[in-house]
Amino acid sequence: MQFRDLHTQYQKYKKSIDSEIQEVLLSTNFIDGKEVNEIETRLAEYVGVKNCITCANGTDAMTLVMMAWGISNGDAVFLPDFTFFSTGEIVALAGASPIFVDVDRDTFNIDTKKLEEAIRRIIEDGKLIPKVIIPVDLFGLPANHYEIETIAKKYKLSVLVDSAQGFGGNIRGQRAGSFGKAATTSFFPSKPLGCYGDGGAIFTNDEELAQRIKSLKVHGRGKDKYDNVRLGINSRLDTLQAGVLKVKLKAFIDHELEDVNQVYQIYNNRLKDAVEVPIIPEGFYSSFAQYTIKLKNRDQRDRLQAELANKKIPSMIYYNKPLHKQRAFQNQEYVEEDFCVANVLSDIVLSLPMHPYLTEEDIDEVCNLITLCCK
Ligand SMILES: *Cc1c(COP(=O)(O)O)cnc(C)c1O
Repeated sequence: MQFRDLHTQYQKYKKSIDSEIQEVLLSTNFIDGKEVNEIETRLAEYVGVKNCITCANGTDAMTLVMMAWGISNGDAVFLPDFTFFSTGEIVALAGASPIFVDVDRDTFNIDTKKLEEAIRRIIEDGKLIPKVIIPVDLFGLPANHYEIETIAKKYKLSVLVDSAQGFGGNIRGQRAGSFGKAATTSFFPSKPLGCYGDGGAIFTNDEELAQRIKSLKVHGRGKDKYDNVRLGINSRLDTLQAGVLKVKLKAFIDHELEDVNQVYQIYNNRLKDAVEVPIIPEGFYSSFAQYTIKLKNRDQRDRLQAELANKKIPSMIYYNKPLHKQRAFQNQEYVEEDFCVANVLSDIVLSLPMHPYLTEEDIDEVCNLITLCCK
């Protein structure tokens, strides 16, 4: 059994993927081929924003927005404590101060009450200037973007949504990627929409921001490639990846997104009496980048993971260390109680195999073992 089955997906779409790749090979337009433009148009249309700018990966996508907004030394950027390292890394790399905020136990996403408290604390301290909120759509579930928007307006902050895991999710039909002033995603192979290497994108309705990012991602280009008007980076999605994404976006829209939601329904029904199953709030729709259960304590979690491994069932712990505990951020001062939820989650979460090609037999096997272990 695969944690995320890329083999079956490739076998199913082999003909179209191979032919897209073949076409790029024959054209030899490996950088900026026509497929890049095509996928940007399709992605913008699907997400429901005016601009999609592709780049080399999801981390660069966020870095480009930080650069475009001029975020640097003395700026405070608020983000959830329970996320992938990169969300905090890009803030510190820009020279700004990441302010970690605890998360909601049910949704795993940033706790909006604690977010507002953190903003007030930074304002009272007077050492840093609050600038940006980076909510994360963790495990595919959109963060509480309506409440976050209200807080951002109140304190005049910009919102950059890290939707690396969120692509395909929505709130009352409004798709992930269209919230905030800008949103980013990742096409890392195991994300909800993945390519065959690294890739990423920025979504925004802000025309000026879009133009600036288009310049920044190609060495701060001006009129053309050899006119450089600012310092930038080199961050592009290559044509081969764009070709692969064309086929995979279609599969994602045609059936994959619905299929993972089907798996979620079955998992939840089968597991709800044995463990804490994911909670999707009313009106929210998840793309299930991960299906994550909660156990009673670390002991039970670790025992279950070992039992699963015994039966060759893969599972993952996302994340076993909240950001405030990462050594790279050890210069930060913090109070442990501020992160009580993230601390508990890192002890009790376990992500199960989740993808559109999971068979009923696979689901059966996983659920039988979990119900047996967690009675
Ligand atoms: C994967 C991921 C990223 C980084 O994406 P890359 O394409 O690997 O750079 C950032 N944030 C979150 C929450 C992620 O899951």
